[in-house]
Amino acid sequence: MKLRQVGEFGLIQRIERLARHIHGSAVALGIGDDAALLRAKAGEDIAVTSDAFVEGVHFRFDHESPRTAGRRALAATLSDLAAMGARPLGFTLSLSVAPDREVDRVLAVVKGGLEVAAEHACPLVGGNVAASESFELHLTALGAVTRGRALGRAGGRPGDHLFLSGPVGRSALERARGRVKHVPEPRIALGRALAWTGRVSACIDVSDGVLADLAHLCRASGVGARLRVPELPRPVGFEAACRRAGREPEELLLAGGEDYELLFSVRGSAPIDLPPELAATTSLVPVGVLARGGLEVVGGQGGVADSGRESGGWRHF
Ligand SMILES: [Mg+2]
Repeated sequence: MKLRQVGEFGLIQRIERLARHIHGSAVALGIGDDAALLRAKAGEDIAVTSDAFVEGVHFRFDHESPRTAGRRALAATLSDLAAMGARPLGFTLSLSVAPDREVDRVLAVVKGGLEVAAEHACPLVGGNVAASESFELHLTALGAVTRGRALGRAGGRPGDHLFLSGPVGRSALERARGRVKHVPEPRIALGRALAWTGRVSACIDVSDGVLADLAHLCRASGVGARLRVPELPRPVGFEAACRRAGREPEELLLAGGEDYELLFSVRGSAPIDLPPELAATTSLVPVGVLARGGLEVVGGQGGVADSGRESGGWRHF
């Protein structure tokens, strides 16, 4: 069935039905009014983040299933809340899509996104549907973080140690092969735990690529960094898989993007204490140090890192 046959309200009704089971403790008034009402706790700040997912730019149905596309969209949006140390409160979805699209395909994308939202208790609280030539999802997620505890990009100081929360390069490798199956996990629980340690001076999620995102962090903090390429965590068998795909491993490690691990700097050299359930599943890998001066990539082959300084990572325009 085509979208034009069910109409705008038919589509909205179907999305509402799919989203109904996701409950959030912060929702005072959900879908169905002119605006939703969300309730943060006393002493919390609200974190707000927006993302766009455009067919042909951020997802392609010949590379991935509608479900994977939807899951990746939500994961990317929630990852920005994770990078702030925020707990999700809810999200809105504005959908632009052509009337001759199949309803089932559109709903499969939405369903994929709602799976990830459910995993993080982040209910859909509103949105919009519009007719458009291109298929686009515009997501806005809201979170809450204890006042004064939010992780930001700007607090890094020379001497702080840099950590990555998990392997990078896998999403880029899948894109290079034209077959995207992996959906990174937004590091919500880890971000909240890091915020509570009070020792994380700066944090960013790896969406554009390690090098580009480290450059964002360094610029915001007014520092440089030494990044040690050999220590970057990577998937098992990564080098061989890259070569089979005709790609340089170092390029995908440094400039790949869409890994949604957290890259963060820590004050002092004491180990970071994580809650036991997180400590059991997460290894925080030291990958470098913040420093005075520029961004230095050490231990790599050189070529990629040099060009990476100027042009590495995902460029939006
Ligand atoms: Mg981000």
